[in-house]
Amino acid sequence: YAAKQRQSGSMVYDAALDKGSQQSLSLLSELRRAIENQELCLYLQPKIDIRTHEAVSAEALVRWLHPVRGLVPPMQFIPFAEQTGFISELTRWVIAEAARAIRQAADAGIALRLSVNLSTRDLLGPDLPSRMAGLLAEQRVQPSSLCLEITESAIMDDPQRALATLEQLSSMGFKLSIDDFGTGYSSLAYLKRLPVDELKIDKSFVLAMEHDLDDAKIVRSTIELAHNLGLTVVAEGVETSKAWQLLAALGCDEGQGYFISRPMPQGEFRDWLDRWALPELGEAPNTALAG
Ligand code: C2E
Ligand code: MG
Ligand code: MG
Ligand code: MG
Repeated sequence: YAAKQRQSGSMVYDAALDKGSQQSLSLLSELRRAIENQELCLYLQPKIDIRTHEAVSAEALVRWLHPVRGLVPPMQFIPFAEQTGFISELTRWVIAEAARAIRQAADAGIALRLSVNLSTRDLLGPDLPSRMAGLLAEQRVQPSSLCLEITESAIMDDPQRALATLEQLSSMGFKLSIDDFGTGYSSLAYLKRLPVDELKIDKSFVLAMEHDLDDAKIVRSTIELAHNLGLTVVAEGVETSKAWQLLAALGCDEGQGYFISRPMPQGEFRDWLDRWALPELGEAPNTALAG
């Protein structure tokens, strides 16, 4: 896992992760301050119904607007927050902020649904369901407005415990989604037992499927699998018109990616919704695969 994180490019905080000592302590205090000083913000990326072209919901993605370093992407501090346990504070902030956004939209007559990402530690912590319920109740927001995205690896870390927590969250009304599906190692036996509503096909397959027949086959069979299990299936990393059309031909339910929109600051989302229309599709790709 650590090796995978290191591969993920220019990690500003690599040093902090490795050394654990002085730098790590100062990063931790910087993160604490970031919450106090309101340097964290949520970006929203729309999820679109591929059949109706309706904007159905959005994924909330955290960013750190650092006074010196500028906009810091989540992969540069989420892994660190996980390692140090700071993630529980960060997640509390994310959920509270998402609840506030849903409440604001509701007050303006918009039924906004948001997806948020949970980490392994969140899922395995003792009090996630009651904490979540409390944060939503403060804003008079129903759990069904929130979809919780969890990766396969978070679930497989401690499947028994994860299953119990997910069952509790599901019975409270939260929507549940498996993120980055296809990159972990959850068995189909587990998948069948999980009370989830949605599968998100990892963007690595979606990005490659236009050029790589094997990736296209993986996308196709994941869509089939999801539908056979009665789940909604979402493709992330939809960057091109070709990918969109291929996914439409394959019967994928929802798409999310740069072809639709990059993640945007929360404040821009309402305007975006007002203006949203599917971009020109251009030439149709060969969708023989869909047959
Ligand atoms: P994720 O949940 O799988 O989110 C999708 C990532 O793909 C986002 O990166 C998004 O900006 C990016 N993306 C969306 N469309 C496209 C596309 O068309 N092409 C490409 N190449 N990329 C696309 P981002 O925002 O940098 O987030 C990275 C990861 O950080 C997320 O992956 C998630 O695992 C984690 N993360 C983000 N926000 C939070 C959070 O609030 N809490 C936790 N625990 N993790 C978070
Ligand atoms: Mg996600
Ligand atoms: Mg994902
Ligand atoms: Mg991902």
